[in-house]
Amino acid sequence: MQFRVGVIGGGWYGCHIAYSLGNLGFDVALFDRHSVLMQEASGNNQFRLHLGFHYARHHATRLQSRDGFQRFIERYPTLSGEITKNIYAVPEQGSLLDFNTYKLVMAASGIDYVEMQDVPDFLQSIEGCLLTRERVIHLHRARAFFQENLGSNLQLETEVQSVRDAGDHVSINGQRFDYVVDATWGHLRPLPINVYFEPTLLLYYESKDVPALTLVDGPLFSVYPTEDPQIHTLSSVVHTSLGRYATAAEARARHAQVDLSLVKEKRMAMEAQASVNFPAFRDMFRFAGIQLGIKTKPIATYDDRSCYVFQDGRIFSVMSGKIDTIFFATERILSLMAAANSMRSSSEGPTSFRQNILMPTV
Ligand SMILES: Cc1cc2nc3c(=O)[nH]c(=O)nc-3n(C[C@H](O)[C@H](O)[C@H](O)COP(=O)(O)OP(=O)(O)OC[C@H]3O[C@@H](n4cnc5c(N)ncnc54)[C@H](O)[C@@H]3O)c2cc1C
Repeated sequence: MQFRVGVIGGGWYGCHIAYSLGNLGFDVALFDRHSVLMQEASGNNQFRLHLGFHYARHHATRLQSRDGFQRFIERYPTLSGEITKNIYAVPEQGSLLDFNTYKLVMAASGIDYVEMQDVPDFLQSIEGCLLTRERVIHLHRARAFFQENLGSNLQLETEVQSVRDAGDHVSINGQRFDYVVDATWGHLRPLPINVYFEPTLLLYYESKDVPALTLVDGPLFSVYPTEDPQIHTLSSVVHTSLGRYATAAEARARHAQVDLSLVKEKRMAMEAQASVNFPAFRDMFRFAGIQLGIKTKPIATYDDRSCYVFQDGRIFSVMSGKIDTIFFATERILSLMAAANSMRSSSEGPTSFRQNILMPTV
């Protein structure tokens, strides 16, 4: 029997899940409210294909990244690019871990790096640096790839208003499916864990031939290239956030209040933070614009950014922290779907067993 699956959300998760299920022979429809794919978090982030270096304080997140990184390159070889020089640096002040502990954590997790013998001249007050082969995700290629490969499966400019589980099927805006995947990052249906929505403001800068630089581990900053090697994002764990909100609607409303004076304030704060360890930042980078995004984050004291899939009857919801866990999400959904299906067959079991008993003829 061919299952019909409705996927809601045309970000990285919805696109990858719909594409993978389609390749496995499922009849798939993907809904998104925008006319173009990846318009929300998937199109407004730092585009880092994580390898685990960001998550020194969460083992499971690190391992998912390490494995997801490799699988991403194998599955989507044209959708990410190399970064010539990609530095992770531990500053003398402000890091939650010292350099030796940081290196040990990565090595113990099987994450490869090369230790730089000398701290580069353009940095100051740095304990040590690692070079990594972490990559950058190519947003425009990804949009084109999924637009082309999902083609007739797409129902764009379609806001999903209702998802109803009727027991033997589930419907999206009245269309009937066997299963539904909610890949809206908690925007449509509430997730069964406590989360908050964090509106974000990243800054874009122009510069030529500068390395990617990420300070770890804690409330620090990073400058990371985009798919255009001359455009970089400047992000700061402290200053990128525009607050914590209970609903996605409130987070969107916060974006609507962003004005020039807030951008100026954020620029000053983020450039000042970057200049502490990268004194020539303002000379080497020219401000080019802003990016607004929304993160869905678990309410927790630990640094978990791994991926979870929740099941509610015939509906699966995905809670991600980053893009490299798309494979984990898909496999979890397939596994839960297979289990749901075999439970359904076994609940029909006694009937079919009875039907198979040979009735005595006397
Ligand atoms: C500032 C920032 C920096 C980040 N940096 C990185 C990074 O460098 N590397 C990394 O791996 N991750 C990063 N992330 C996290 C990453 O962006 C997310 O984990 C990922 O994009 C989530 O993808 P998604 O498909 O779950 O959600 P989204 O990309 O948000 O997709 C959800 C989709 O659902 C659609 N939708 C919602 N409600 C409805 C509805 N009712 N009807 C129809 N459609 C609907 C939306 O239009 C949207 O397209 C960052 C996030 C932010 C905000």
